[in-house]
Amino acid sequence: MITAQRTNHLGTESAFEVLAKANALAVAGKSIINLSIGQPDFPTPANIVEAGRKAFADGHHGYTAANGMPELREAVAEDIFTQHQTKVSADQILIVPGGKVTMAFAMLVFGEPGAEIMYPDPGFPIYHSMISFSGATPVPIRLYEEKGFSFSADEVLSNITPKTRLIILNSPANPTGGVVEKAELDKLVAGLERFPDVAILTDEIYSRMCYDGMKHQSLFSYSQLADRLIVLNGWSKTYAMTGWRLGWGYWPKSLVETVTRLAINTHSCVNAATQIAGIEALRGPQDEVDKMVAAFDVRRKLIFERLNSINGFSSVMPKGAFYAFPNISGTGFTSRELQDRLLEELGIATIAGTSFGEQGEGFLRFSYANSVENIEEALSLIAAWI
Ligand code: PLP
Repeated sequence: MITAQRTNHLGTESAFEVLAKANALAVAGKSIINLSIGQPDFPTPANIVEAGRKAFADGHHGYTAANGMPELREAVAEDIFTQHQTKVSADQILIVPGGKVTMAFAMLVFGEPGAEIMYPDPGFPIYHSMISFSGATPVPIRLYEEKGFSFSADEVLSNITPKTRLIILNSPANPTGGVVEKAELDKLVAGLERFPDVAILTDEIYSRMCYDGMKHQSLFSYSQLADRLIVLNGWSKTYAMTGWRLGWGYWPKSLVETVTRLAINTHSCVNAATQIAGIEALRGPQDEVDKMVAAFDVRRKLIFERLNSINGFSSVMPKGAFYAFPNISGTGFTSRELQDRLLEELGIATIAGTSFGEQGEGFLRFSYANSVENIEEALSLIAAWI
């Protein structure tokens, strides 16, 4: 068989590999504490599950509109207004099977050989993978530990070339738990006026997980970007719905037709019952979300304190999402060595910083989407072992 060149450029998400290895060790009888997984350890709230169950029972078994049910798109537009006080048209919302699909569509729309796309490093590995798959050149945006894993706007602006088509931003961020500083964002947006052809993809999938009373700084608040802004968000993290596969993208008017065609050409639509559950998630009570975020906050403070008490580890305070990204260079191990040894010798699953880009060397990602007891036990074991 002769396959397309681009298939050689497809990367992966190591979280799934670590999960497979941890599962194999568990089957072999080893006790495992999984701090590698990027999904809430809570069930989907009962009112949402019930809405999905009822939708199936009521006969919602067929195709829906490719861009999503009108009522769901309206509910998303209302939610954007509630969260960010920005009025958007429901016609610019595309419902997709999970947040990743908006990412993939953006790369397919902008990426081709000769184009450049900028992405955060360390960052979600699928950015780099899908940019390369599209044929475009991935250009890293360096995140600085000393800036709480924010970027330097001056550096981003100075790396823009005539080939730059798209800049990807992610805040709150995976894997760092970092939140972009408002001052850097203001500077970047102001500087982008000089580059009117460069589009922005902002991945805001962790937007509801901000701590210390901080409000999420969405790019929706920069109205000057409206005609070149793509916003990625969805239900996976906020409503503990990773397995339902439901996400939304906000697209510039000029691209709505193209991305709707991409949906028609790939998945046709998201399954109807899941979309109905998604309406309940947005319009129903939000107290389960608040409870989940409060529980994450307790664990965030605990993991920050415990990580900093381990010899050779130092961690900045994560400000969002449910990840800590300690610097482990003081241990003398590489990220990958430490990931492997913690898993094999202690049964603790974490992810090497290098799985998130070159700038991740010297760091390890811990997900604190796990119980306080498990976090305490894992960190005590690591401290003793180190
Ligand atoms: N964006 C980021 C930064 C993520 O961490 C993830 C999942 O881990 C996604 C997008 C994808 O979310 P979904 O499961 O909805 O596709």
